[in-house]
Amino acid sequence: MEPTAAQLAELARQLAGTAPNEIDCEAVLDCVAAYFEATQSGITPSADLAMVGQHLEVCPSCLEEFQALVRASAGE
Ligand SMILES: [Zn+2]
Repeated sequence: MEPTAAQLAELARQLAGTAPNEIDCEAVLDCVAAYFEATQSGITPSADLAMVGQHLEVCPSCLEEFQALVRASAGE
């Protein structure tokens, strides 16, 4: 039986919803400095760091931590 368009849309929504949970805030905060350095030096982030970037898009508290690094860097 073929899934309906509505079922596929629901599945896609669920998958999108679970993606941010693949990496938790504690892991992001451990990596946020490395992620920041990668973005500063123009390095293509590794898969782990790319997940940090994805998490920052959905997690305001981790994004705040990242922005604190950006501000500290800009203030130097
Ligand atoms: Zn977070």
